[in-house]
Amino acid sequence: MVIELANIFENEGSVVSFDRLVPTDGDCADERFPSGIVCRGTVANHCGIVTIQGMADFSFRAPCDRCAAVTERVFSIPIVHTLCRTESEEEDDGIVVNSDLSLDLDSLCYEDAILSLPTRFLCRDDCKGLCPICGVDRNLSDCDCQKPSDPRLAALRQLLDDSMDKSQED
Ligand SMILES: [Zn+2]
Ligand SMILES: [Zn+2]
Repeated sequence: MVIELANIFENEGSVVSFDRLVPTDGDCADERFPSGIVCRGTVANHCGIVTIQGMADFSFRAPCDRCAAVTERVFSIPIVHTLCRTESEEEDDGIVVNSDLSLDLDSLCYEDAILSLPTRFLCRDDCKGLCPICGVDRNLSDCDCQKPSDPRLAALRQLLDDSMDKSQED
């Protein structure tokens, strides 16, 4: 969805609201967003400053970074930017709009959604992950593996395991 900004830039006090389901199977194709991105908000000119303010809600589905279980979590993030016509007008959190004064709302929401994701995506905050020795999912069951007391020893053991795996494959 494209929001035309020419009138908004020209008229102080003007407000345009939006309420849109951004599809994530078209231009912003990304199967990690199974239900698209719902965004709601306004683009408004307050005293000559044009801002977009709203919220985006979406669920995100991907493997947990610790235990690899495919997990779906719901996020709700603010979409807040100042819209500028030129680089020199640009402020913090500002974005420079196309020269034809249009705003591609879909890609803006999609990019904001991607940027808001945590660097580590976990199935739950206290995910215990996989045992580095036997590979069991420690959220589901315990194992008898000794916690290696010396990290160098653990690295050595990993190295041995790897080479044994390799020789078995050969
Ligand atoms: Zn996990
Ligand atoms: Zn184990």
